Amino acid sequence: MSSLDARLDVLRGPVEPLPHSARTLAALTANPSCDRSALLDAAGIDKDTLATHLGLSQPMKKSRLALDHGLTFERHVTDPEQGVLVSLLRQALQLPVPHASYKDISNLRHGNGASPPGLRRTHTSQLILGTAEGRLTPPPALLDHPVLTLTVAGRQTYLEPDVIALRHDDVFHIVEIRSFPVIHGRADPLKAAAALTQAAAYILALRELLTSAEPPTTQVSDTVVLINPRNFTRQPTATTYNAAPQIKSLSRHLARLDRLPDLLDTLPPGTTCDLATTPDGTPTRPRDHLVAALATMKPHYTPSCRHHCDLAAHCRTEARNRGSIEALGTTVHDDLAGIDTIHTALDLADGHVRASSGREDIAHALRHAQRIHDELKRDST
Ligand code: SF4
Repeated sequence: MSSLDARLDVLRGPVEPLPHSARTLAALTANPSCDRSALLDAAGIDKDTLATHLGLSQPMKKSRLALDHGLTFERHVTDPEQGVLVSLLRQALQLPVPHASYKDISNLRHGNGASPPGLRRTHTSQLILGTAEGRLTPPPALLDHPVLTLTVAGRQTYLEPDVIALRHDDVFHIVEIRSFPVIHGRADPLKAAAALTQAAAYILALRELLTSAEPPTTQVSDTVVLINPRNFTRQPTATTYNAAPQIKSLSRHLARLDRLPDLLDTLPPGTTCDLATTPDGTPTRPRDHLVAALATMKPHYTPSCRHHCDLAAHCRTEARNRGSIEALGTTVHDDLAGIDTIHTALDLADGHVRASSGREDIAHALRHAQRIHDELKRDST
């Protein structure tokens, strides 16, 4: 075991690490300045369980109904009998996609149970490398439920794209099926961007795999196909997106994970988020010990944390207690550039402190806002 692994094991405690997923990698790009989540995710700490033990209110999770709706939609799209996926891709990629060459990797037989990710990964690699090297005739056109691996901070992370369209126009394409609708040709931009960031992780994983092809090839398209329900129906529609910005951003953030040893050096020796569970899984570590351990890891709270991190409620309380401007959101943070705390902003607004050189315009705007606020308050009483 490397010393890095040993240090991360201490931070996590004696439980299996949660692997990075496309979702945690997407969160990495959403808040790259947060050392706390970089450390917790690198150690594979289950932030959901940690948050539950800390008694935190959890971000809204998808309801069972919404999950079932998504699964039904995905099954409808990928059902090889109906050929929906094939005709959507023919249209979206303007390529001849044959019906016969569809492979569902989740159908691999393994005893009586579902096929484990390791086996699906091996099979996916064989099919992709076989296709890239021209050894498969005919090559499969579509791989459903493939499993790839991506090296994250020196460790292999399993990733599960929805579908890989294999080597049409001589390149590979990632296809993602999402249950959020495209209304009048437009998807929710935040949801589409999140889907593209996850797709970027799959593209990087596929490129990593193809470096072992003979000869090595990196022909994985930046163009991602998203398949969504059209308008308010269950009718699927395929849209192509350029994921190049997301690929660039994710690559940059993955490279920054090399700073893990430096981040670990900032922690006091023995810092741990081990929940010290009993054999029946009940956490026994006092909450204030965990809060103290978290306090040693530098957070970077922004309101968007609640969309991607289970610790959002904890970090928001901390940020508010510190009077951090960042807790008020990016717009306020940008508008008040150079002012660190809410207390300083309030002091400038009510004239308790004089604005230093270069901050006069901000102080003027704050005093103006304060006057409007006072007038509204007066009028409402
Ligand atoms: S909620 Fe906290 S730990 Fe999570 S990303 Fe935000 S600041 Fe970091």
